[in-house]
Amino acid sequence: TEIRELLLSRIRDVADYPEPGVMFKDITPLLADPAAFTVLTDALAEIATRHGATKVVGLEARGFILGAPVAVRAGLGFIPVRKAGKLPGATLAQTYDLEYGSAEIEVHAEDLSSEDRILVVDDVLATGGTAEASIQLIRRAGAQVAGVAVLMELGFLGGRGRLEPALSGAPLEALLQI
Ligand code: IMP
Repeated sequence: TEIRELLLSRIRDVADYPEPGVMFKDITPLLADPAAFTVLTDALAEIATRHGATKVVGLEARGFILGAPVAVRAGLGFIPVRKAGKLPGATLAQTYDLEYGSAEIEVHAEDLSSEDRILVVDDVLATGGTAEASIQLIRRAGAQVAGVAVLMELGFLGGRGRLEPALSGAPLEALLQI
């Protein structure tokens, strides 16, 4: 569709970043284009509304840039999921495996309640590890998962399959499939 073509045209491929052999998808040209940024925000906000989300979780750091305007557009609250050690209050933490080593993310536990249905927003779904850990965090906090919405899914990395058990029926929506 036209929307997909506009979004795709504003994503820059950067070869060998952050390491040799990786083709990095850079969304900064899209963010700098007000028409494209608005189209993206509206499309993700429509997903939030359609799935009955009550709050948006954004994953550090590009999930903050996308998730915050989506939350405002959809009339919802915004909750940051941050890398370990950045949030000042009482947190829940979740560790997950990377290709080499592990990573940890955190959320303010009091931001999530059993009444909440959370839409997780990020720019790119790669291996799915970050999104999977965020779903586990949300469920451990007692909230429900309305779904995961990303601008772009890198299908060849198999993130959708990895995420499926954690989603347990909740939708994964990707505006673009690569
Ligand atoms: P995953 O945990 O492997 O799915 O990696 C997803 C995380 O890494 C997301 O928070 C993305 O922002 C980031 N990421 C991975 N690959 C890319 C890329 O090509 N462009 C932008 N972000 C990426």
